[in-house]
This record gives sequence, structure tokens and C-alpha cells, in this order.
Amino acid sequence: MSLFVACRRGIACRMYVIGALAVLAVGALAGASIYFANITGRAAQVLYGQSLAGVIEATEIELLLEKHRRVIEAAPLEVDRGELRKDRRMAEDIFGRIEGLVSRPGDQLAERIAASLPELVNLGREVLDFSENYAQQKGLETVDLYAKSADRIQERIRAFRQERVNIADTETNALTHAGRSLISWVSTLAIAALILIGPLSLVLIRSVVMRLRRITVAMGKLSRNEPHVLIETADAGDEIGEMARAVEVFKANAITLLDQKARLEQLNLWLDIALNNMARGLSMFDAREQLVVCNANYLRMYSLPAEMARPGTRFEDILGLRLGAIVSSASEGQLDERFRIRDVLAKVVVHRQEGRFSQTLQDGRIIEVSMRPLETGGWVALHEDVTEQRRASEHIARLARHDPMTGLANRLKFRERLEENARNLGSGQGFALHCIDLDKFKEVNDTHGHPAGDVLLKSVARRLEATVRSGDVVARLGGDEFAVVQLGAASQAEAAALARRLIEAVSEPMVVHGHRIEIGATIGVALAPGDGTNPDDLLKHADMALYRAKADGRGRHSFFDPAMEGRLRARRMLESDLQQAVTQRQFELHYQPIVCLERGCVSGCEALIRWRHPERGMTSPADFIPVAEDIGLIQEIGAWAIDEACRAASKWPAPIAVAVNLSAAQFGTSDLVSIVSAALEASGLEPRRLELEVTESLILDQDPATVDTLHRLRGLGVRIALDDFGTGYSSLSYLRSFPFDKIKIDQSFVRDLSQRADCVAIVGAVAQLARSLAMATVAEGVETEDHLAKVRASGCTEVQGYLFSRPVPGKDIVAVIDGCNSKLLRSDAA
Ligand code: C2E
Ligand code: MG
Ligand code: MG
Repeated sequence: MSLFVACRRGIACRMYVIGALAVLAVGALAGASIYFANITGRAAQVLYGQSLAGVIEATEIELLLEKHRRVIEAAPLEVDRGELRKDRRMAEDIFGRIEGLVSRPGDQLAERIAASLPELVNLGREVLDFSENYAQQKGLETVDLYAKSADRIQERIRAFRQERVNIADTETNALTHAGRSLISWVSTLAIAALILIGPLSLVLIRSVVMRLRRITVAMGKLSRNEPHVLIETADAGDEIGEMARAVEVFKANAITLLDQKARLEQLNLWLDIALNNMARGLSMFDAREQLVVCNANYLRMYSLPAEMARPGTRFEDILGLRLGAIVSSASEGQLDERFRIRDVLAKVVVHRQEGRFSQTLQDGRIIEVSMRPLETGGWVALHEDVTEQRRASEHIARLARHDPMTGLANRLKFRERLEENARNLGSGQGFALHCIDLDKFKEVNDTHGHPAGDVLLKSVARRLEATVRSGDVVARLGGDEFAVVQLGAASQAEAAALARRLIEAVSEPMVVHGHRIEIGATIGVALAPGDGTNPDDLLKHADMALYRAKADGRGRHSFFDPAMEGRLRARRMLESDLQQAVTQRQFELHYQPIVCLERGCVSGCEALIRWRHPERGMTSPADFIPVAEDIGLIQEIGAWAIDEACRAASKWPAPIAVAVNLSAAQFGTSDLVSIVSAALEASGLEPRRLELEVTESLILDQDPATVDTLHRLRGLGVRIALDDFGTGYSSLSYLRSFPFDKIKIDQSFVRDLSQRADCVAIVGAVAQLARSLAMATVAEGVETEDHLAKVRASGCTEVQGYLFSRPVPGKDIVAVIDGCNSKLLRSDAA
């Protein structure tokens, strides 16, 4: 059993068994051969030793007996005694020899004939005796006896010989039989061996050869990189099984290897693609300064020939060509460049640090090279074309310090120049900082569009540059704000002269996109070092001066004075409070009656805004409306006032109208028409009971958009009044630009009516003019009966003033109206 298991497990064991069987078969064959050889040998021995040897002796004895017989039988015929004696001796001699032959112990022939021999000898002797005695007859008779005895002996000898021959025959037959047996044994064994070898061979072929062949085929496929082969017999427990398992491992390894190879190839491909699609050039050199790898971009960058990409190319050779791309000839420049690159390389290779340098190629490209040491010695270098980057950063650096539109210095650069100038100021030296704000720029933008505004700004920039001296700095600080540093301006007089020139230059009319445009400039000036040396202080102070100049009426310049700081602070506070007022709804409307002189009753009331501040108390619109306009809060405040006034008036007795003041700023950005119509709709007030008061400043430019808005407002059914007439340019052309419903003559004229005849004339003229244009006229600021009499005499149709009532809160106005009407009735009656 265990042998069977061993055979299953081991080819060697199987081979041993097969060997052992073969040895057994051969042993059996050898044994049989020896056995039969022995038999044959023994038979031969018997033939030779026993049979044939006795035959020879028998033949010899027979011959001697024959010789003895001839001597004896011849003796009676012999007459010579001498001869007879010789015969006797011969006979004796022969007999002696015969005796010698038969005297061997165990000799079968001797045993058979020994007893007869003495008789024969005696008969012979008798024959001889008779013969010597010439008793021939007797002799012959004895010869007969002798012959008979000899015949008997001879017969025995012949029988013996026959016996021997028979024995030899028997032995020969036995030998022949043994030979045949041997042949049959050997044949049987051979057949058995053949029968055995066949299946054994089959077993061997099946269990060894076939399996080995399959494994060999699998190995062949594996070696041809065909890893997906089926390896059979891997589950067998023998050596081939082990071999199959080893091949399985080999296969798994081969698959892994192939997989890795495929991945490596893919990786290589990707690497190749990555390398050759890198925006940067890449080169890698080993410790012997020989090229390991480089990409196409590297070659392209330095216009290197393709053979330079061969791994093993010396760095020195490549460097030579690269230097050619940097510096044209083998000049000192090339040498310097070589040293420079070698220096960086030493830092990388010897000190194992990163190295970086940049080179400008002959065609102007700038290549930045960064090198890193490799673990294995050598280095890897990345080459980047940074030309665009450098240009872009230069451009960015320029942009960072310049205004892209005008090309002037921007605030950053201007501050740097201010700082620089302040630092370099010697004793007795100074400079002036002019902060320039364009007047009416916003209107240009709104009217002609931003492109026109941009052209205008560029044009202003050129004019400012043309006005200053070389060395002075002109900057655009943002929007329509410009600034100039006037070097060497130690006194206000010098600065004032330039400020005037600058205003003049900017105020010169210019043609933009086919339109003739006139703008102006207002300038605030701060002087260094008197007003400060720090750029922030100087800018702040010039800004304050600008603010002052604007407040004083634009188109002029102002110098900084320390008192401005306090005013500015107050202004900032007001701005912040105003912001808060809007969110906290701190506004309210007061109303002042307007009296119609023809009808002798209140025809309407003007809504006048008030700001009730918890600390400031009640604040006049004259104090905060301009600020709200400046900081853009007027839109919200104005919209609220329209809404609130409409709502209040809707509760008054009809047809008393409400007049609401509008700022010019409300026409610019918000959709005034929608705001008004929404207020009318929400309140239900009849549009003709709403009057909108605008000032001359609104139509100063005769902007078509403004006039259009006025028409659209009128289209709603509301009336439009021109407020404060006489305080601005009071151009009669304004009256032509829009058909106002009413002109409100400013109270400054009414105030002086009692003293100044010119005022009476003006008020009269305006009233006259209005009448001819079918417009009503309101005289504002009527405080006294005299005023009333004079404006009535001048032909004004309506009056408004303290004479009738001061502006009162909304809750009181109806009572005030009634009071006014009663008073008017009484005076009429009087
Ligand atoms: P305005 O439209 O000309 O208003 C008339 C101003 O004269 C009011 O001053 C009024 O109180 C004052 N006033 C009326 N009668 C007399 C008088 O007999 N004697 C004197 N000395 N003054 C008189 P107030 O209320 O201070 O308003 C000043 C200006 O503020 C207004 O002038 C108007 O231009 C502006 N304003 C008032 N409310 C608003 C508003 O809601 N929106 C806008 N944009 N401006 C407003
Ligand atoms: Mg008004
Ligand atoms: Mg007014």
C-alpha cells in the first residue's frame, strides 16, 4: 500500500519499481540461463567424463585384446620357438597393459571383463605352450577356446560401449531438452518482459512524458510571453505536480511581470507623452555628466539637433550648443556664461542644493532653468520659457503702478513719488500737491456714455501733463480725480499759479465723439513740508482743500488750512448720521401754504423736509440735502418725500396741491417717473394736485435726458415749477427749454423789495415774462404786508412766506390752511 502511495507521489519511485521489475526479469533470465548452462555442462561432463572416456579405454582394451588374439591365434602356426617366445613376451606385455587398464578402481568395464581375463590369459598361455611343444592340434583347439573367451570379452566390451553410447544419447537428449527449456523460458520471459514493458511504457508515457510535454508546451508559451496557458496536473502530488506548481508560480510571476511590463510600457508611454507635452524643457544627466533623458521641448528651446537627445551625450557637448544659442560667438560672453552655469551646477552636484538661473537667448526669449540634484548623482533640470511671464509681470508691475486708461501714475506710484520727494526735501525746499477734481464729469458720462468719458479722461491727462514742468508728477487717483506733485513750489503763489493754469487747461472746450464738451476742474492744494511730509497727510490735506474749493463753488482752487480738519470731521460725522437717519427714518415733512392771490385762498402747500436728530435736534434741509446729494442718499430720501407728500396731500381738501422739491441728482440715476407715478397711485392723489419743484441747476446743461424726464413727468399730469429763480444763471433760455407751469421767484429778491427798486423791477419783469409765457409766478419769502403788496403789484400770481405761515408739521397743516383762508377772506372783506 505504502509502495502504491509512494508510486503515486514520486516518479522516481515509479522508476525504481520499473527498474526493480526489469532487474528481476533480467535476474530471472540470468538465473534460468545459469541453471540450464549447469545442466548442459553436467551433461557434457557425463558425456566426456563418464561415457566417452570409458569408450576410449574400452576401444584401447579391445585393440590390445585384438593384438593379443592375433599373437595367440598365430602361435600354433609358428614353428620357430624363438618367435614363439617373442610372441609370449608380446602376449604377456599386452596382457600386462590390459591389466593395467582394467585395474582402476570403480572402472565399470574392468569390473565387467576382469573376471574373464585370467581365463583368456591362461588359454593364451596354453596356446603358446602347445605351440612351443609343437602340439599344434592341441594348440588349435585351445585357440578355439581362447577365441571364444576373447569373443565373450569383446562382446562385453561392445555392450559396455553401447551402454556408454546410450548414456551419451540420453545425456544429449537431456541437454537438448534443457536447451529447449532454456529457449522457452527465455522466450516466455522475453514475452513477459515485452508484455510488462508495454503497459509500463504506457504508464510512463501517460504519467510522465505526456505531463512533461504539456508542461513543456506551457513553458514554451510562457517563454513566448503568452501567459494565459492552462497548466495541468498542478494538483498532482508527484515531482511533475511540483514542477507544474512551480510553473504555475512561474506563470503567475510571468503574468505579474507581463502586467508590470505592460504597465511600465504604458507608464513609459505616458511619461513619454508627458515629457514631450510638457510646456517646459526637461533634461536629466547622470553623475558622469552624460544625458539620461531629455524631452522634445528641451531640444526645441535651444534649437539642439535630434542626435543630442541620445542618452549618453556629454553635457559639455550640449552646453556648447546651448551657449551658442545664448551668446553668438566664442567670445568672453560665452566664457562668462559657461562659468555661471558651471557655478550653479557645482552648487547642485557638489553641495546637493537646488540651483536656478535664467538666460536670455539671442532671439530675446528668456529661459529660466531650475536644477535639482539626483539621489544617484547627476541632476535634473527644468527649462521654462518665461518670456511671456516676465513680460506679463513687467506689465502687471507697470499696471500696479499706472492707470491703464490714461497711462498716468496711479495712487500707489503717486504715493511712492510723494514719499520720495518728501524724503529728498532739503532745507528751504518744498513742493505742492494738487488734488484735482473734474467738474461736470459725471454729466458727460451720463449724457455721452462711458466711452466718451474715457476719451475725456485721457484728454485731461494729456492736458495736465502738458501743463506741468518736466519732473513734476501727474497721476490719476481714480474716477475723475487727478493729482499733481509740483516740485520746487515753496510758496502758495507758485502753487496757485499752476493751479490756475491747470484749471484753465482742463476747462478749455474739447471735442469728444463729435460733441463739444466743456468741463471744469476744482483743485485743493497742500504744501510740503508746511502741510505735512507724510504722503497720507498731504493727500488728506489736499483733499480737504479740494472739498473746501468745491463747497466754495467749483472751478477754483483752495489751499489747505488746519481749520479744515475740524470741518471735515464734522462733515464726516454728518454723513454717518445721515446714513443712520435713512435707516432709522428720522425724517419728517413740514408743509408751508402757498396762497393764490387771484382767488384769495391757499392753493397748495410746499413740502419741506426736516431731520429730527436725537442730538442735533431739528436740522434744516439746507444743511443736509447737499450732503445727501454728495453721498448719494438723496435718491432714497427724495423718493420717501414724494411718497409721503402725496399720501399727506391726498387727505387735504381738494384742490389744494402739494409741491415737492426735487434735487438734480434724482434725475440722474433713479427712475423718477416710476417713483412719482407709484406715489400717486399709492396715495390716490390726483396728478394735477402734485407740483414738482426743480432748480435752475437741473437744466443748466439743457441735457435732453433731463428735459425728457420733465416731459414724462408732466405727461403723468403733474405740474413742474422752476424754484429759486434768479439765484443761478437765470438764463431766459431755460424758460424756453421746458414749458414750466410755474416760476418761483427766489426770496432774496422779495426780501429786498421794500428797500431796493431793482428788486421790484426784477420781480415785476419776471412776473410779466411768466404771464406772457402762460406761467404762474410764486413770490417766495413774503414776510410782510409790504412784501405782499409789492409782489401783488408786480403781478405775481401766488405768494409763500412767513406772512401766512411758517412750514408746519403735517398734522397741523389743515388747520393752518383754514386759518390762512379765513385771514384772506377777512382781508378781502376789509
Ligand atoms: P425752497 O424750496 O426754496 O423752500 C423754501 C424755503 O424758504 C424753506 O426753507 C422755507 O422754510 C423758507 N421760507 C419760506 N418762507 C420764508 C420766509 O418768509 N422767510 C424766510 N426767511 N424763509 C422762508 P427750508 O425749509 O429751510 O428749505 C430750504 C431748502 O431746502 C428748500 O428751498 C429746498 O430747496 C430744500 N428742500 C426742502 N425740502 C426738500 C426736499 O424734500 N427735497 C429737496 N430736494 N430739497 C428740499
Ligand atoms: Mg422749493
Ligand atoms: Mg425756493
